[in-house]
Amino acid sequence: MKTATGTTVISNGQLFDGSGKPPVPSATLVLTDGRITYAGPAAGAPAVPPDAQRIDARGGTILPGLVEAHYHATYFNIARLEDLDIKYPVEYVSLLAAVNTALALECGYTAARSGGCLFNCDVWLKTAIEADLVRGPRLAASGREICSAGGLMDWNPGFRKIGMEGLVFCINGVEDARKAVRSLVKDGVEWVKTYPTGDAAWPDQNDHHTLCMTFEEMHAVVATAHNHKLKVTGHCRATEGIKNALRAGYDTVEHATFIDDEGLELLLKRDVPVVPGLRFEQVSVERGPQFGLSQKVIDGHQETLDGGAESCRRIIKAGGRLGMGGDYGFGWCPHGEYAKELSFFVNFVGLDPLTVLKCATKTGAEIMGRGDEFGTLTKGKLGDVLVVEGDVCKDISRLEDRQNILAVLQGGVLKAGRLAPRTIIEVPLAA
Ligand SMILES: [Zn+2]
Repeated sequence: MKTATGTTVISNGQLFDGSGKPPVPSATLVLTDGRITYAGPAAGAPAVPPDAQRIDARGGTILPGLVEAHYHATYFNIARLEDLDIKYPVEYVSLLAAVNTALALECGYTAARSGGCLFNCDVWLKTAIEADLVRGPRLAASGREICSAGGLMDWNPGFRKIGMEGLVFCINGVEDARKAVRSLVKDGVEWVKTYPTGDAAWPDQNDHHTLCMTFEEMHAVVATAHNHKLKVTGHCRATEGIKNALRAGYDTVEHATFIDDEGLELLLKRDVPVVPGLRFEQVSVERGPQFGLSQKVIDGHQETLDGGAESCRRIIKAGGRLGMGGDYGFGWCPHGEYAKELSFFVNFVGLDPLTVLKCATKTGAEIMGRGDEFGTLTKGKLGDVLVVEGDVCKDISRLEDRQNILAVLQGGVLKAGRLAPRTIIEVPLAA
């Protein structure tokens, strides 16, 4: 991804640097050749060349670009779960995914860690984003997800004889686990997404207290992935599944819904970040009836919502790290609502806005393993910046409305928001 050349000055706003500290009032941010060279009070800002590009924050907030830490670019706002695997071919899914990444950028998300994808779209989406052909967040790519046969993701009935080729490797035992990871290594992914536990979505055989992989399978995934420098995460609701993931050496845990004291201790010992993706549960309860979810499924989502909120409060209180990611791409939880996860964590879970903003910036970058490149407005880091009209630190819901977004910059290049120019991208000669 190209970085800007020359100088850009963003001023006339408060500056939240991503660390969780209160914002600096009347601040200025200076970017030189796409990197941050000054972030602090306007009074102390260095002199800049007369031809510097200037962005007026209009009394609003200057903050690091947001990081979506559980992103599914290829989930296309499905009306029902089985659509994910069988509705569209890879050609159309790829196009829809490119639309989703552009939307995420418009919403202020300059980076995203994938939580799994259809086919091998993420790797090529990332290639196109890095080549500036498709607009979108800097992407950490996942691939097809791994789940044991008969587990949560193995939902196509046998009589259809179609498997789950688009979305999942259905494994039986450690040899299959290694084989699946090796296939993902060849595909070029960075993250391996697994399903250690079930979910409220499948209340009879694979509910949120059911295990969907053995410890041995999970350990085989981690050993193989780490050997090839890939990272591992997993959908963990059930108490034992969370502990299995932590003992197996997972790099992050998704959800960590029903974590107990022992699980929390294991989590803190290795400082493993959790991405709760919890607002999904709230909207599943609220919008479930309209999408035909049964009462049993909705009741399970309610239990998950309450248990998950308590776990998040405990993790933050104990000094653990949360990333903000919302599992968007379902009809009842569509792309574009990304920042609603942040408001939810303030209003429903009860965290303070500065903590939530830190989770959505600094911690997100750390989860991607790129905390030294972006995630805070610190001298030397990339100019991945968001400028929002209004006081985001007091009213985090300002982030939900794209009308409030003035500017979204990646590497100092103004790419989205009300102040951005409309750009036309052309496909270059194939190298
Ligand atoms: Zn997900």
